[in-house]
Formats: sequence, C-alpha cells, structure tokens
Amino acid sequence: MIIDCHTHGGPDYLEWWNRVTKTDKDFISYLDKCGVDKAIVGCGKKGLEAKTKKDLIEANEYVFTFCKKHQKIYIPTVNINPKYQKESISLLRNYRKQGVVWVGELCGYVSGYAYDTPEFKELMDVIAELDMITHFHSGNLIEIEKLVKSYPKSMFVLPHPGRGRKEIDPRVALAAKYKNLYIDIAGSGSERIGNIEEMIDKMGDDRILYGSDFTINEPGGVIARIKNSMIADSSKKKILGENTLSLLRSKGALL
Ligand SMILES: [Zn+2]
Repeated sequence: MIIDCHTHGGPDYLEWWNRVTKTDKDFISYLDKCGVDKAIVGCGKKGLEAKTKKDLIEANEYVFTFCKKHQKIYIPTVNINPKYQKESISLLRNYRKQGVVWVGELCGYVSGYAYDTPEFKELMDVIAELDMITHFHSGNLIEIEKLVKSYPKSMFVLPHPGRGRKEIDPRVALAAKYKNLYIDIAGSGSERIGNIEEMIDKMGDDRILYGSDFTINEPGGVIARIKNSMIADSSKKKILGENTLSLLRSKGALL
C-alpha cells in the first residue's frame, strides 16, 4: 500500500505552470497514475495564503468535503493560521471531533507567520491537548528543535530532507535525537541517491514517510527512489505506507 503523506488539494491547485492539475478529477487521476493508493490532503493555495479568515475556513471545508466524498482514499487535514487565532482554535477542535488528526502542512513562510510567537504557542498547546500530528515546513533548525523539544509527547512531521548535505545531515541528526520527529521525504532532497539509506542508518525505519508535495512535485519520482533504494523490502513497505498508517491510527484517525 502506497500512502502519500504530503499533497495539496483544491480548489486552486498549487502548480507553477498550471498545466496538469486544474480540477479534482486531474488530481485524482494523476495520483492514480503514479500508483498512490491513499493520500493525506493538505490545503491548496487558498488555505496556505489565507488572506482572510473566510479563506482559511473555506479552504478547510473544501479539503474536508473532498476527502469525505472519497473516504477510502483521501485523508483530511486541518490548516490553521495564528493571524486568525480564534477561528484556528475552533477549526482544530471541530475537525478533531470529526476524526481529523493531521494539522498542516503548515507553511509559516507562505502564510506570513512565525512559529516562535506566543500566538503560535497557544495553537500548539491546543494541538498537543488534542493529541494531533503537526506537519510543518521549516528551514530553521533551531526553530524545529525548539518545537519538538517543547512538546515531547506531540508528534511532528518535517517535510523535505533538504537542499544539500549541509541541510539534510543536521535534519536527520535531529530526527535521530527526538523520537517524536518524523521525516517526510517529499520535495527538496528526495531524489538524492543514498538519502534514505543514510536516514535508516541514523534514525531507523519507523519514522521515515513517503510524501511527494503533489501537486507541486512529481509523486512518482519519490516512489522510484524508495523502490530502488538499497534497503530491506520490509523497510520499503514501512516508508511507502505502513509508517503513515500506524501514525494516523495511533491518533485514532478515521481511515
Ligand atoms: Zn507542501
């Protein structure tokens, strides 16, 4: 079973040239073509950029409705933004009640907020209280460590291995140190030969997740790297889907 833990849904699909994924149907058929069986669906452009609180609420609704419609295949998430604090807290509580356990992908740099503010801490406290998973994009090692260290019982997923060895090695070292940190191998650094072998050696095979960052990036490229990697078949299965499934199940996700 192949589960993509990192996709961005509609209605406005994130894609540089806007040539391939324009509709929900395009989204579904492309993932099908890549052999993806299930996918976690994050917000698209509207939710990440959220110029108003209405944008944020509607973007979450869109993802939730889409996933409900294709319940056995797509797994909903909830996105938040400390600019709309009150609404974000309600979103977390309401969607959690409906079986959503995954928060993000949070992209502070796109949404225009930082993770080291009292407002974000207030949201993190709610996420921890509700025992949800935080999928957050960050290029700042100090910021990442501060978060995973401050909430040792909360699970975090860090997307992207990184741009080069200088970025990848310390991120893997951090995941080796903090057992509540998972690495999603989507996007930057996903195609580097040896990346997965190195991760397994340093952090084991339980906390590496297949993700693609579709509709921005190609889902098939990451799958090829996992399948061709010089690791045990059992590890490949874990990375391609079993690890994501266990993580979701451990929080009681409706699958
Ligand atoms: Zn992403």
